Amino acid sequence: MEEKTLFQKIADGEIPSKIIYRDELCFAIYDINPQAPKHILLVPLKPIKRLSEATAPEDAEILAHMMITVPKIARQEGLTDGFRVVINNGLIAGETVPHMHIHILGGRPMHWPPG
Ligand code: AMP
Repeated sequence: MEEKTLFQKIADGEIPSKIIYRDELCFAIYDINPQAPKHILLVPLKPIKRLSEATAPEDAEILAHMMITVPKIARQEGLTDGFRVVINNGLIAGETVPHMHIHILGGRPMHWPPG
């Protein structure tokens, strides 16, 4: 059996973290190293390594569900003016935890292009 990922350990309560949202497919926590006043990570319970390793049709429901859940969490966190959604896929994109997750960032103006 593969070793649990960091986010699986958090979901299972083995690494302490405040879980701010949870349902049958995904959960959300605050990023430990926030890049904005609000920086949330939305993580599937299934340890899909990265977006490019998600497969159809098995993972389609999870990914669609997560996208639909993003605005729900943004509302819950008071991000009424807007927010940015980021997925870092692969080392070159800045991925550091190989368990797919969606960054939800808000609470300050965002710039474009991103770094
Ligand atoms: P990425 O670099 O896109 O793979 O995102 C991984 C994110 O996980 C980074 O923004 C880290 O700051 C964050 N992170 C790492 N460890 C923890 C933790 N224990 N609790 C919450 N966030 C974490």
